[in-house]
Amino acid sequence: MENKGKIGVSTENIFPVIKKFLYSDHEIFLRELVANAVDADQKMKALAASGEFKGELGELKVNVELDEAASTLKISDNGIGMTEEEVDRYINQIAFSSAGEFLEKYKDNIGAIIGHFGLGFYSAFMVASRVTIDTLSWKEGAKAVRWSCDGNPEFEMGESDRSERGTTITLEFAEDEKEFATKGRIQLLLDKYCKFMPVPVVFGKKQEWKDGKYVDTEEDNVINTIDPIWTKAPADLKDEDYDNFYKALYPAAEEPLFHIHLNVDYPFNLTGVLYFPKIKNNLDIQKNKIQLFCNQMFVTDSVENIVPDFLTLLHGVIDSPDIPLNVSRSYLQSDANVKKISTYITKKVADRLEEIFRNEREELEKKWDNLKLFLEYGMLSDEKFCDRAMKFCLLKNTDGKYFSIEDYGKAIETEQKDKDGKLVYLYATDTESQYSFIEAAKNKGYDVLLLDCQLDAHFVNLLETKLENSRFARVDSDTIDRLIAKEEAVKPELSEDAKKALDEAVKSVMPEGNDYYVEAENLGESNDAVLITQNEFMRRYREMSSMGGGLNFYGQMPESYNVVVNMEHPLVKQLVEGNYEDKELLRQLADLALLSNGLLKGKALADFISRSAKVVKDAYLK
Ligand code: ADP
Repeated sequence: MENKGKIGVSTENIFPVIKKFLYSDHEIFLRELVANAVDADQKMKALAASGEFKGELGELKVNVELDEAASTLKISDNGIGMTEEEVDRYINQIAFSSAGEFLEKYKDNIGAIIGHFGLGFYSAFMVASRVTIDTLSWKEGAKAVRWSCDGNPEFEMGESDRSERGTTITLEFAEDEKEFATKGRIQLLLDKYCKFMPVPVVFGKKQEWKDGKYVDTEEDNVINTIDPIWTKAPADLKDEDYDNFYKALYPAAEEPLFHIHLNVDYPFNLTGVLYFPKIKNNLDIQKNKIQLFCNQMFVTDSVENIVPDFLTLLHGVIDSPDIPLNVSRSYLQSDANVKKISTYITKKVADRLEEIFRNEREELEKKWDNLKLFLEYGMLSDEKFCDRAMKFCLLKNTDGKYFSIEDYGKAIETEQKDKDGKLVYLYATDTESQYSFIEAAKNKGYDVLLLDCQLDAHFVNLLETKLENSRFARVDSDTIDRLIAKEEAVKPELSEDAKKALDEAVKSVMPEGNDYYVEAENLGESNDAVLITQNEFMRRYREMSSMGGGLNFYGQMPESYNVVVNMEHPLVKQLVEGNYEDKELLRQLADLALLSNGLLKGKALADFISRSAKVVKDAYLK
């Protein structure tokens, strides 16, 4: 080679630095080089379109060729190429110094930078012991140039025998980076980073199975889709196209519920397709499936700090050149563009859900159980979204009927107001174990909601703050007459001694380890003798604190229950008259109450069954 030179950087040798700091992400070299090649092709297309270039454009593409035996990789394009002067400017000066600057700036938290953008061409030295450029500019009369560098700041530059327009970058993999010199690995990386690049990327030939082995065919193996659906107009797409794209992105996932097509070009540029996945429980495993692209080049699949936390539950693709990519993640949130983008996406998601609510109500109801957790999570974590969602969020009752929040309020308005004019929303969390309480409420002509998902304890609190003059009560948190008190309850009159005797008698037959508050009530002859309930607020706090992880005040307290004794029940009257000496009867009544609450377990349950069997035998045996 004719020319020798020293690349102008202050650091004596930046390659060890590149290697050290980017250790975990060496693989991005391929994305950077293919992206440069794609750019060169795109620029060529633009020159032809503007009329500046009048020659033969040819079929613009990028070729990736691996020689496993020689451990080399070539990335070739038929783009604009570079003149000698351009190689000197772009590669020796600009690219090198920007790589140096980049590393200097971020050497302390390189891992925090999205996809390690900005390193460009020089990322090749993360894996190569020598990098060679052969390039021929599109400009008339240009001479082909060869540039080569072995990882020291010295390069060689001279003539190349290249005869076709474009550039080939040849990497000789370093001794400790030979793992990249396998077909499988390169294929995987191309799939990950280049799957939707806008110019065909060819990696060898398509293969077919012949005579017991795979052999190359004549056909190029194009690894990418150059016009993925997010680059198209929604009007040109069918539901099927969206479904197929989803399958291509997540081959193992269940089909999504709905999709949203994003497309905005002012005040920022963003396209994408987002999907609502089925989420039944376990929020965490669903997160971070959105793929972030920059002009069809894959950047990362973690979009936290770019979209609000609850939207990371969505799946799909976002493509925006306006998301700054070479900044640390913590900086992202404060970036003005990112803020606008985040607000835009939140609004679009709310718009779409509202549209579904209005026009596809039946579909929404069908899919609601799988969408509900996402919506509740969004409402709990994003105030603005919550205010929008109050319109289209659904409530489901224990009969499986769905209502909008507003409609539900109207439906229960006449029956479920208490004596103070508060509207009481009754709910159950489990239709099996709370069956008798649900039935009791229904017999009164009340409706009971089913709130059985992970976040419902929090959701109930949220709704109480949003719905004026309303209160939520779980059906088993009190006797039905007291849940929606219509008039001031008339308490039975008991002397202090009588109260004490009742208290002691009841506590003596209750399982240990819990706290009990014994109350005397007049519930009528035909109602249950004993009823066990759990205070709404105590239970809610306990549930929420257990979800929060740590054991706080409420989490540490023993469970506490209200034991309501119906003084009008004939058997209770009999007990009182006999000074609670009939322990057998007392225990039987208490156990019945425990049983209907799911609290009777183990030995106590076995004892109850054998006692009941005896009662049945005595009653029926002739
Ligand atoms: P960036 O791509 O971010 O500008 P790079 O370090 O990757 O930074 O590249 C520096 C410059 O070198 C590019 O801007 C481009 O002008 C030139 N370049 C790199 N690769 C090619 C290529 N394959 N064809 C033509 N020019 C290229």
